Amino acid sequence: MDINKIIEECKKINDEYHYFNTIDEGLNSKSSNCYESSIRKTPKKQGDGKLNNIAISVKDCICVKGLESRAGSKILEKYKPVFDATVIEKVKQQGAIIIGKTAQDAFGFGSFSTNVGKDMKIPLNPFDKERACGGSSGGSAGITQKASFRHITLSESTGGSIVCPASFCGVIGLCPTYGRVSRYGLMDYANSLDKIGPMARSMDDIALIMEIISGYDEKESTTLNEEVPKYSDFLKKDIKGMKIGIIKEAFGKGIDKEVKEKVEQGIKKLEQLGAKTEFISLPLTQKYGVETYYLLAMCEASTNLAKYCGMRYGAAEKLEGSFNEYFSKVRSDYFNDESKRRIIIGTFARMAGYRDAYYIKAAKVRTKIIEEYKKAFAKFDLLLSPTMPFVAPKFKDIEKLTPLQNYMADILTVGPNLAGLPHISIPAGFNKDKMPIGLMLIADHLKEEKLIQAGSKL
Ligand code: GLN
Repeated sequence: MDINKIIEECKKINDEYHYFNTIDEGLNSKSSNCYESSIRKTPKKQGDGKLNNIAISVKDCICVKGLESRAGSKILEKYKPVFDATVIEKVKQQGAIIIGKTAQDAFGFGSFSTNVGKDMKIPLNPFDKERACGGSSGGSAGITQKASFRHITLSESTGGSIVCPASFCGVIGLCPTYGRVSRYGLMDYANSLDKIGPMARSMDDIALIMEIISGYDEKESTTLNEEVPKYSDFLKKDIKGMKIGIIKEAFGKGIDKEVKEKVEQGIKKLEQLGAKTEFISLPLTQKYGVETYYLLAMCEASTNLAKYCGMRYGAAEKLEGSFNEYFSKVRSDYFNDESKRRIIIGTFARMAGYRDAYYIKAAKVRTKIIEEYKKAFAKFDLLLSPTMPFVAPKFKDIEKLTPLQNYMADILTVGPNLAGLPHISIPAGFNKDKMPIGLMLIADHLKEEKLIQAGSKL
């Protein structure tokens, strides 16, 4: 398919579903990324064009040179990075075509992609326009489901933003081990939690892109200097004798009946192929995961957002008044309500006098949660649960949720994110309203290949 046709299709889908904040100009503009891809000759030593002509969309918070990149926020309006994130550089070297920046909750703050920046549009679920795509990478998941052409998206997760929308939109989403993929060029939400990972419709594409984007990056000090396996070798590998722990709490109260049934069918399938399953309990993660995650994430976010003050990046106003007046005006006008809520809570929780009670305590509980998982992985190859407790909710129901109820939606996904563990959401069927259901597998650190090995059998 030619690039201009792909861009035309994206524009058409976008008019109806709002998956993109920016679509590249295609071959019509010589400064576009598409144009650059079409004339790029892949130098031999940099790769052999493994992604030649594959269309890649990119979550708005990942920097793409020359393409407006605003992390879904009004405060970064018109910001065009002068460099490519490492993941972008890597996929371009393999011949990929970057088609645009996908819609998200501003800065990744949300689970439904409804917390978009002022004047920006909310992405609509590809199966039912009255429902959410999930978040925060809603646009990424939506376009991955809807595109008629071969397409992979590069997305981001802090507490579940890859697997949640993947589950709600019926596509595969893989969130790698913390440090497996370079975050250089990612606009930080919470540095100790952020990961870049892909979504696609086929496991082959997930394995392929993971081989390309994983690995050490001298520009990013938290990347791990560990060898990258050939993930595609695990697509055909059987799962006989693989030990899978079924997370008991994830099938209890508050989890939708149809979601449980479909995920149980998935478990049966894995058992028939020779996997050995057993229930396991993760009581600490279940009880404290959401509180711990939101405290840490908001503390880190509140410091990361300090740099957006209308001086250096994005939106700017006429310089008037004192610095404090100017700074307050820009931040009041351009941040949305959820961003403000998180800045206020995060700043409070790490203030002198409250730091020990909140931030430090949450950091200690996080260590306990990591220990709980590590104990489980001494016995199991993988852990399994539904990805989300329910299918994509309707916008009219989301509106009624309090912020706390909103945060509780992440109960199943915050655990692996807190522990930096790789996890994947795989489509597991549909409910009676024809809405997709996701099954989640979690692996031990740097064991992404097991997710691909077992996930490809579902
Ligand atoms: N829903 C979570 C939050 O709002 C996760 C977001 C993310 O992973 N970027 O923080």
